Amino acid sequence: MPVPPVVAPVQPGSVGERVLARAEDRVTHRQVLPDRPARTRAWPDWVPAELRTAYAARGVATPWAHQVETMEIAHGGEHVVVATGTASGKSLAYQVPALTAVLDARRPRDRRGAGVLYLAPTKALAQDQLAGLHGLGVRALAAATYDGDTPRESRAWVRDHAEVVLTNPDMLHRSLLPGHEAWSRFLGVLRYVVVDECHHYRGVFGAHVAHVLRRLRRVCRLYGADPTFVLASATVSEPAVSAGRLVGAPVRAVTDDASPRGPVDLAMWEPPVTPGLGANGAPVRRPAGAEAADVLTDLVLDGVRTLAFARSRRGVETIALSAQRALGEVDPTLRARVAAYRGGYLPEERRALEQRLRSGDLLGLAATNALELGIDISGLDAVVVAGYPGTRAAFWQQVGRAGRGGQRALGVFVGRDDPLDTYLLAHPEALLGAPVEATVFDVENPYVLGPHLCAAAQEAPLTDDDLDAYGPTARDAVDALVGAGLLRRRELAKRPGWYWTDRRRAADLTDIRSAGGAEVRLLEAGTGRVVGTVAAAAAHSQAHPGAVYLHAGETWVVDELDLDDGVAVMHRDEPPHTTSAREVTDIRVLDVREQVRWGAATVATGRVRVTSQVVGYLVRDLASGAVVAEHPLDLPPRELETTAVWWCLPAEVVEEAGITPEALPGAVHAAEHASIGLLPLFATCDRWDIGGVSTALHPDTGMTTVFVHDGHPGGAGFAERGYAVAARWLRSTREAIAQCPCPDGCPSCVQSPKCGNGNHPLDKAAAVAALDALLEQAPPRV
Ligand SMILES: [Zn+2]
Ligand SMILES: [Zn+2]
Repeated sequence: MPVPPVVAPVQPGSVGERVLARAEDRVTHRQVLPDRPARTRAWPDWVPAELRTAYAARGVATPWAHQVETMEIAHGGEHVVVATGTASGKSLAYQVPALTAVLDARRPRDRRGAGVLYLAPTKALAQDQLAGLHGLGVRALAAATYDGDTPRESRAWVRDHAEVVLTNPDMLHRSLLPGHEAWSRFLGVLRYVVVDECHHYRGVFGAHVAHVLRRLRRVCRLYGADPTFVLASATVSEPAVSAGRLVGAPVRAVTDDASPRGPVDLAMWEPPVTPGLGANGAPVRRPAGAEAADVLTDLVLDGVRTLAFARSRRGVETIALSAQRALGEVDPTLRARVAAYRGGYLPEERRALEQRLRSGDLLGLAATNALELGIDISGLDAVVVAGYPGTRAAFWQQVGRAGRGGQRALGVFVGRDDPLDTYLLAHPEALLGAPVEATVFDVENPYVLGPHLCAAAQEAPLTDDDLDAYGPTARDAVDALVGAGLLRRRELAKRPGWYWTDRRRAADLTDIRSAGGAEVRLLEAGTGRVVGTVAAAAAHSQAHPGAVYLHAGETWVVDELDLDDGVAVMHRDEPPHTTSAREVTDIRVLDVREQVRWGAATVATGRVRVTSQVVGYLVRDLASGAVVAEHPLDLPPRELETTAVWWCLPAEVVEEAGITPEALPGAVHAAEHASIGLLPLFATCDRWDIGGVSTALHPDTGMTTVFVHDGHPGGAGFAERGYAVAARWLRSTREAIAQCPCPDGCPSCVQSPKCGNGNHPLDKAAAVAALDALLEQAPPRV
């Protein structure tokens, strides 16, 4: 966790001082993250001399204290998560105990006596780890990746001889676990499972991976192994809790980062308001990407090595192109010194780019988060973050790239025109001083649990004891699967329990990367090429006929949507407009799981059914944002059963707050939008993972009610988290609205880019009054 920064005067001679001084009106806040000296600790006695020599050759004479703490816990056989900053040497912390086990257990002629399984969220990261392991030069180390690219003829060798197998959760789910008999000798000697970058396993994906790891542990037990898990994570809140949920067993956390860091000057940057008119005549701010391109240009002109992060590939292209153009006007040779990093590069190309940055040949690089996984860049002078990357954990990971050899560095956060970014600009302490958020997922989501129980049953029949590991909802889930004819109880079998009885491969029932539910394939008109997929639920609002669809940074226009075949046909185009769907939504409460009274107000969480229907779409001019046309659509309603958090105000409280019946719909609608915008401050979701419904009078509560619900079937844990932090979350929401200087609502406070109702009605002042009434008797601030 980052040390809360101390507010300090900016020192003359800091990185980028000239650039910041010129933009005083845009820089809303500055402070200095103090430097941190290195703390080292001696190698534990059990580390073989061979490994110490190998690391010494790579410049590690003595490890840092957090590395030793991690390896000691793992070596003692306890599960551990190391959650420290970028470039804090997390790899070494898990490699040392794992390689020690491998070397100590070696049989004659270097035959395998112990196994290590390394899991990364991407193939690229696994390849980087493999290169790092080979670079250590450990005697006869048999390490290999095992993924979709591994040739068939190599697979048997990996199974039978590899001491370290580097793969991903998808391969584990689809290939390794269903075929565990073939892996029995490896699994039988498995000593360590390394789960790298484990903060990526969040939301529905996190729940899937948690189940894959439970299946792995169960299968290992069949072969007499009980491996120790070592997890590595960016700085997140409560790492022991989320790692423990992921593994399904207690995990100890190491969070005290002992790696050295120079001081970092942090600046918060607010783009100016542009005269163009937004939706409903609202003022709009200059795009964060355009501002970031200017900052990058100025820093490069000052010879500052700078990395600019944007949220989308298109944002990255824009930043790189504008910076190249601006630099070219000053000096044509400077153009080539700025590049865009698009991801999907070959390892050689990534190495070349790293080399150009390290040598200073490249002075500026614009990149998406893809850079987080697959390219090793640290030691830059400055990092520009264009738009909040979604989590404080990701923000610190990006800023952590700045700082060469303990030298002074600069981090600039450029806010986008939305409630969360604007709130952070007004409340820098919420970004720079607050602990990072928790990684949230819901292991009990029945839509995720069911298919994994089937997969587990096919791997080995499920016993009563097995079910205990799956939590209190597992028994109902198994009964439902028996009812559906997928599982059958066999009492007299050698292993009494539930058996998989279907002819299909159970692992094919679910794709762990999909958010749940069916998918629609996006096809290119004419060629029929599959461009990508979109969740069926989202297809209605994003891939309807006439929709302008952004995919991987490219703009497409949808020609037709065939829901029966699960296909949308589209063509490349750059129309001068965007589209937004109009949607009518109804929500019913199925089950109240928990609720709390705040005076006369109620806050609750539970299961809901959301019925929504896309009825048309608006066409907006790209430049002005003005609505130029509206078209009806004929699409069927859809249902989503999920988890929600909601708050209710009785009629007399609404009246006492001075909110008229005419103002009430706009008040709750505005409060709903802003609260959806602010929830990502407390849970690792983004506003597209959640939805909301607001109503002046709801039939199930009998009161004025605002719902915020998970966007995935069964829920992903976000609404539940909103309930747990409701008072803090809704206070921030109130402040975000009240402190926005706009007169009647804008994208920085109550307007939403995904509103199904064209951002109408919205009543900013009445929203503040409603939230004040709600919060009047909420638990006090702590
Ligand atoms: Zn506003
Ligand atoms: Zn709305």
